[in-house]
Amino acid sequence: MTEARTKINQYLTSLKMNNLKNQLDVILIEAEKEQISYQDFFLQAVEYEFNARQDKALNRRLKQSNLDISKTIENFDFSFQPSISKKMVKQILAFEWLEQAFNLIFLGPPGVGKSHLATAIGLKAIDAGYKVIFISMEDLIFNLKTKNAINKSLRTIKRLKKANLIIIDEIGYLPVTRDESNSFFKLISDFYEQNSLIITSNLGFSRWAEVMGDQVITTAILDRLMHHSEIFNLDGKSYRLENKDNIFKE
Ligand code: ADP
Ligand code: MG
Repeated sequence: MTEARTKINQYLTSLKMNNLKNQLDVILIEAEKEQISYQDFFLQAVEYEFNARQDKALNRRLKQSNLDISKTIENFDFSFQPSISKKMVKQILAFEWLEQAFNLIFLGPPGVGKSHLATAIGLKAIDAGYKVIFISMEDLIFNLKTKNAINKSLRTIKRLKKANLIIIDEIGYLPVTRDESNSFFKLISDFYEQNSLIITSNLGFSRWAEVMGDQVITTAILDRLMHHSEIFNLDGKSYRLENKDNIFKE
């Protein structure tokens, strides 16, 4: 290694530009071969470090999001679920609502694609640079309930508050106690006009009080959730039942 190259490596190390440090030989050889300008060479070098960092950040956000990466928009069959148009999805994926801390609420019976759509939107939001966390209502309530006793739960709640988008999946499947819905209400109030939510629920709003255990708290929760929100009623048949896998052949 030349003296200059050794120095470059030292500088890149102390500048924490290890991506470029590892790739520089390749970029240098290519630049000499292609006889590119100094400016283009410099651009390539800087761009390499930048892109590598963007990639790492994206992977980190993806890992922390708890999203199922198989549930993409590309894998969603819009002909099976005509309650939501492609045009609407395009508007959703422009993320204006996320910038304005609006919420999206997907309502409908089991199997119509609520969780899949919520996940797919979450994955695109991560691509667009947002911090996203997917959590089931059951896990959320568990974390809220144990945040003073279990460190991990407290960390999860803190992480939720730092996310741009929190996907709360399956409100309505499990009943929550009055204490639990009280702390859920507090959390929703913290998110209000700060973070966006996507909520999925198999129950219409008129039935939320049944699972939340208290009409007053439910009204207060819905008030915060719905003030800046878009509500999507997905209906139709269950994709699960219509596309049931069989293991035995006729
Ligand atoms: P829900 O949350 O409404 O109960 P899911 O989103 O979990 O329903 O969908 C159930 C299953 O069917 C999942 O495996 C999902 O990927 C699949 N699915 C549902 N709707 C569609 C669709 N329109 N296109 C492709 N897959 C779908
Ligand atoms: Mg679901």
